[in-house]
Amino acid sequence: MMTKAHAGKPCIICVAITGSVPTKADNPAVPVTISEQVESTHAAFEAGASIMHAHVRDDEGKPTSDPERFARLKEAVEAHCPGMIIQLSTGGRSGAGQARGGMLPLRPDMASLSVGSNNFPTRVYENPPDLVDWLASEMLTYDVKPEIEAFDLSHIFKAAQMAEKGQLAPTPYVQFVMGVKNAMPVDREVFDFYINTVHRLFGADVPWCAAGIGPNQIVVNDWAISSGGHARTGLEDNVRLDKARLAPSNAALVARAVEICQKYGRPVATPAEARAILGLRPVEA
Ligand SMILES: [Zn+2]
Repeated sequence: MMTKAHAGKPCIICVAITGSVPTKADNPAVPVTISEQVESTHAAFEAGASIMHAHVRDDEGKPTSDPERFARLKEAVEAHCPGMIIQLSTGGRSGAGQARGGMLPLRPDMASLSVGSNNFPTRVYENPPDLVDWLASEMLTYDVKPEIEAFDLSHIFKAAQMAEKGQLAPTPYVQFVMGVKNAMPVDREVFDFYINTVHRLFGADVPWCAAGIGPNQIVVNDWAISSGGHARTGLEDNVRLDKARLAPSNAALVARAVEICQKYGRPVATPAEARAILGLRPVEA
């Protein structure tokens, strides 16, 4: 039964444009060079995305945490997509240890922050406590809002403990990640429990978002949008429209999320609205 319980509430769409895993062999539309990334982000922005989540690649297309590349990407997106929220990844595939946070002095609006470890498809996603503490303190220093990547329920509780200790600025913005092989599957009861937990720990009105991997991207988009959350899409998490068709672009995946917003009567948040919802600094004129 379709409900429109959250009709009228703006929905923030985040586009995760590249990631560190998909290649051109998986889908030629995956943007790899900085200019491809800027072009793909701009089309996604026009389609309705107000946050871009980015990783960068080196000249061979491999993941890197090179701050110089992040700087070029950030500057170009700021110029071409006015007001768009820039979220840079401190994820673990692209570097080891503190190299993962080397771009934080660039003061992006946001950065992803994993606060605990879990398994990924072929390895451990290692987030040791001292590194988590250091990344969080760098984000405070440079006024970067973290997006807490909850690969597990314990990560939401860890974020609450960190907020309590003043390691995170209030209020943490949590993203539920579901469908990574060997981590939390796409499970509706867990999803609802995550929502309740976020509201219990951080307050009844706090914003949250969710991402589903592969074919579950659209499933989790639907759950998040219908439940009053915000939605992440993009080629980082999923390269297909369906079993038969590759997604032609990041913008096409954003358009799919926009359609779900329309289905539930939720307007797509503008960048200014998204900044207000997340408590981010407005863009300087
Ligand atoms: Zn990412």
